[in-house]
Amino acid sequence: MKILVAVKTVEMVEDEIEFTDDGREIDPDFLEREINDWDRYANEEAVRLRDSLGGEVVVVSVGDDESDEVLRRCLALGADRAIRVDARLTDPLSVARALATVVQAEQPDLVLCGVQSSDSVQGATGAALAGVLDWPVATVVRRLDWNASGAAIVESELNGGAIQTIEVDTPAVMTVQTGINEPRFGTLRAIKQMADRPIELVEFVAEDAEGYVVSELRVPERAAGGTLLEGGPREIAARILEIVNGEPT
Ligand code: AMP
Repeated sequence: MKILVAVKTVEMVEDEIEFTDDGREIDPDFLEREINDWDRYANEEAVRLRDSLGGEVVVVSVGDDESDEVLRRCLALGADRAIRVDARLTDPLSVARALATVVQAEQPDLVLCGVQSSDSVQGATGAALAGVLDWPVATVVRRLDWNASGAAIVESELNGGAIQTIEVDTPAVMTVQTGINEPRFGTLRAIKQMADRPIELVEFVAEDAEGYVVSELRVPERAAGGTLLEGGPREIAARILEIVNGEPT
């Protein structure tokens, strides 16, 4: 079984942020890079499947060389190979097209994505990838098994808390929910061992226009007129009661 895991390096903002001069990106000095949380679970699920069924786990990221560290972390957590598509793309359709070139070259049985990425929160790349490949997709997967004839049996979450069990033909794309497993923590030794491990590079030249282009970023204005209540819990509670009762300040 060959499993490809799409892993994103997310850019998390610190307490304060500033934008680049063109106002279309967050100044990199105000960002911390880390593995997207959902993708940690997807990588763990792939490694567990490989360990029980045999095969190979290939992690793939679309991004610049800042993504290499996260890819090496996945190798330290059990993945066999890492590929980076050397492109800075943000919209899900363009990322999906870039990932699709690797899927077509690698011919995996399964592609695992996270449900969403914590920085751009689009929740769209996995479904877009399935669309580009014309493969089946199972979304928000919280359990993944295989039956005797090798079909994937998937439990996925629906709106309102309902769970559905479906049988999915492979090759397929699945988007993995957090909590599907308990991801391992890599040992320091394993992380050090992967420090110089080469990452396979793939060039991608987009032939289609991007799905969207960011024209402006801004922080919403804070609502004015808040009142800071001071004192101990008893005084503050009394004051809240006065406010609720409409008593003047
Ligand atoms: P999103 O649609 O941006 O919320 O991301 C959903 C999932 O798509 C992530 O959890 C990743 O599995 C995958 N993904 C998104 N962006 C990238 C990227 N640049 N490189 C690799 N995988 C990505």
